[in-house]
Amino acid sequence: MTVAKRFRWEAAHRLPWHEGDCRFVHGHSYRMMVEVEGEPTEDTPGGSSMLIDFKHVKRMVKPLVEEMDHATMVADYDTELKEALATINSKTYVLDVDSTAENLAAHFADHIGTEGHEVLEKHGVDTIRVKLWETETCYAEIKKSVSEYVGVEESEVETHSTPTPVSA
Ligand SMILES: [Zn+2]
Repeated sequence: MTVAKRFRWEAAHRLPWHEGDCRFVHGHSYRMMVEVEGEPTEDTPGGSSMLIDFKHVKRMVKPLVEEMDHATMVADYDTELKEALATINSKTYVLDVDSTAENLAAHFADHIGTEGHEVLEKHGVDTIRVKLWETETCYAEIKKSVSEYVGVEESEVETHSTPTPVSA
């Protein structure tokens, strides 16, 4: 059984090493599908079973989406852009890695896994899948096992990611 919830937000970013136009600050209307998979563990009084209430997924994801919405995402090493954003007092979301679609999908999956593994496991969810659209026609997808996050603190996961200079 798979349950999915869609999210959307607007944000700006740049990839300073990019040879094409992605090196310039520009914006995207991000779309994301968060899918959780597993076997329902509880029966509802009406007899039909439910994997997990959509509100649980929303609670895990929405705060992060709100932090990113209308922000400029900037990699921690991009000090030039960080300074410029501070000068104009712009909403800023600092990442340890480049803000590629691949890294953002992993960032959300890791956030859901670390913040939500207890709730997910309780409901029989074993897999998290995040599809993140940077444009209408391009998306990155990541699949993670909930068990990977058991006993892992958020701070440990954040440092795992490494920059992947791929298409943006
Ligand atoms: Zn871009």
